[in-house]
Amino acid sequence: MESLATAAVHAGRDDVTALGVHVPSLDASTTYPLLSIERGGDSYEVLATGGHPVVDGSLVYQRLWNPNVDRFERAVAQLEDADEAVAFATGMAAISAVLLAAVAAGTPHVVAVRPLYGGTDHLLATGLLGTRVTWAGVDEIADAIEADTGLVVLESPGNPTLDLVDIAAVVRAAGDVPVMVDNTFATPVLQQPLALGATLSVHSATKFMGGHGDLMGGVVACDEAWAPRLRQVRAITGALLSPSNAYGLHRGLQTLPIRVKAQQEGARAVAEWLLTRGEVDAVMWSGLPQFDVDGIAARQMAGPGSVLAFGMADGFDAAAVVTSACRLIVHAVSLGGVDTLIQHPAALTHRPVEGDAKPSQSVLRLSVGLEDPADLIADLSQAFDAVHQRG
Ligand code: PLP
Repeated sequence: MESLATAAVHAGRDDVTALGVHVPSLDASTTYPLLSIERGGDSYEVLATGGHPVVDGSLVYQRLWNPNVDRFERAVAQLEDADEAVAFATGMAAISAVLLAAVAAGTPHVVAVRPLYGGTDHLLATGLLGTRVTWAGVDEIADAIEADTGLVVLESPGNPTLDLVDIAAVVRAAGDVPVMVDNTFATPVLQQPLALGATLSVHSATKFMGGHGDLMGGVVACDEAWAPRLRQVRAITGALLSPSNAYGLHRGLQTLPIRVKAQQEGARAVAEWLLTRGEVDAVMWSGLPQFDVDGIAARQMAGPGSVLAFGMADGFDAAAVVTSACRLIVHAVSLGGVDTLIQHPAALTHRPVEGDAKPSQSVLRLSVGLEDPADLIADLSQAFDAVHQRG
């Protein structure tokens, strides 16, 4: 396979030159002309059950298929080294589709490793989609599996405290049960869960894939057996990614490798500076050997990425001062974009997480962007000064 940097630029675009254009055209049609009732019906039948378009048939209706979504999916599949990818309106729609497919197959039990993004945790804890969850550590997975277990779910690095999970070990413990890895933090540039034995690699494409904080999307890279099941759920529930967002996400992939690597260098500088600060009692970032004590990131990732978390020694009050005092760094949820964002997981992204699983009140999550790290450090430094001035 050509290198990932090359694939990121060209994947999903192999036919554009023959079409006489340089970039893919945007197909905004919500509906498509039908050639006849019979042939239209045949196309509908195939698409609504998760198949690919019939040759010389109609695409029928945007919710069933869209060429820009298809291009983005083919590109993601190539970057994840997967057979296929299926794209959704948001990351949560993608995760919901995986859960619904498991429920539809009569295997609604999910074994899940915490921490997970607060929305995913909430979805599993409520059982809203008909799933039933058992929370388990990696060593408890094999015992937690029941006759109707349809999925093992994990994130690595995990949101928000960057916990590392040994994906290959989870795959071994899961046996025949498919493993779904949320790969949002790593991106395919740093980690390819399918190569480690996982069945499904899920992304909030809203984050690094879009990369500029202006598009929402989700995508699942998977094999040929799962893809039609997910497309069927998408068609029936109406969770298709919009063509214009697919266009933007596909463009975002072209700079994904270079952004991920540059942001990761910024995160390294910030993490090393945080380690020197007395206001901070913990730095959580996969690139620190003292954090990756079991060598998991070193083994399964090509780099640590650009999201980190840190604990304020003076707890919530100090964390609140820092978030308000930042001037360059934006106090906002989300991550993976070109600008640096800071937020308090316990109050925001992980607000619905119950009991001991909720992140500590002293923890802040930082998504490092493309700014000069010296400017980020200067901003954090003056925000830490504000903690002392608080009195
Ligand atoms: N997975 C992770 C790791 C996330 O951080 C998020 C959102 O923050 C999601 C999934 C959900 O994605 P979306 O907000 O695109 O629905």
